[in-house]
Amino acid sequence: MSEIHGWAAHAAGAELSAYKYKVEELPPNEVEVKITHCGVCYSDVHLIDNDWGISKYPFIPGHEIVGKITAVGSGVQDRKVGDRVGIGWQADSCGICEWCRKGDEHLCAKAQPTCVGRNGGYAGSIRVNARFAVPVPEVLESENVAPLLCGGITVYSPLRNWLARPSSRVGVVGIGGLGHMGVQFAHAFGSEVTAFSTSADKAEEAKSLGAHHFVNTRDTGALKKVAGSFDLILSTVSADQDFQGFIGALRPKGTLVVLGASPSPIQISAFSLLAGQKAVAGSPTGSPSDLHEMLDIAARHGIKAITESFAMKDCNQAIAKVKKNQVRYRAVLKN
Ligand code: NAP
Ligand code: ZN
Repeated sequence: MSEIHGWAAHAAGAELSAYKYKVEELPPNEVEVKITHCGVCYSDVHLIDNDWGISKYPFIPGHEIVGKITAVGSGVQDRKVGDRVGIGWQADSCGICEWCRKGDEHLCAKAQPTCVGRNGGYAGSIRVNARFAVPVPEVLESENVAPLLCGGITVYSPLRNWLARPSSRVGVVGIGGLGHMGVQFAHAFGSEVTAFSTSADKAEEAKSLGAHHFVNTRDTGALKKVAGSFDLILSTVSADQDFQGFIGALRPKGTLVVLGASPSPIQISAFSLLAGQKAVAGSPTGSPSDLHEMLDIAARHGIKAITESFAMKDCNQAIAKVKKNQVRYRAVLKN
């Protein structure tokens, strides 16, 4: 028996404090990973604050992890001690249902999130099913790749699933952790990219990341000016927003993909969908196979998160800054 040291919230909205938990013999299908880096996704903040009503305390957040394997279970054949791996939102799945068999493990009804019902990555080490610890291409720096493991795959998957291509006009709403990677991926897909933001000071950087246009959503009538313009809009905002306005910004047959996980219900009029045969969809992270593919594309197209690093012990400072929308563009905790 040994101990893993991490940082946990002990109540909804509380600051994190040092916390340790005991682990027994490593299960046959798992690996233990010594964490070097862990991104701070807004989903960690939702969970700390119990926005989704599912949090249990003490709670160790963290699901954008990079580290080195320090132990492998007796049944693991394709990972070895010393491998550098990335771990995202998911730590395990049943492995035998229809969705797991198809390679869509992220849709498994028994999927186990990395930090829900398990202890997450704001810690020294973590254990997950080996299938969910994906090798990281050598050319990618650990700090810049950690945020791709959740935020990156969450914006990559809908671009791929809704067939973004050079003829597509793609909007990315919210240029935060997810959004700044969404702009880069949409650019790599060859689409015409528009960044929607409440922060005027992000305009230049959004353009340098590959956005062709920048819309400040705080400007009066900003969405009306782009009505009927987009084939695909990815909404990454963590708070309530003008979803009806973004439906108006879609071209006929366009789709608004909701990625942000604000707990409030979304209000959209039926007629605004009927008239232009428009759709609203949701999209959750991605499977291990999607992660492999996304990391390969990131390596080949030079896509990486722009990060601001904090020592793991300063996780509360990082969280406070994320809550104030002051991070450019992803906080990453380092051991
Ligand atoms: P983030 O880094 O804080 O970025 C969110 C961005 O949304 C902010 O940078 C800001 O961009 C904009 N924003 C924030 N508050 C706003 C408000 N009140 N009104 C309008 N815009 C606002 O957060 P993140 O880590 O990217 O996560 C974003 C959301 O995605 C969270 O809800 C998270 O839980 C969710 N998420 C979902 C999945 C999934 O599987 N679907 C995966 C990961 C995360 P501007 O300054 O440009 O306006
Ligand atoms: Zn996340």
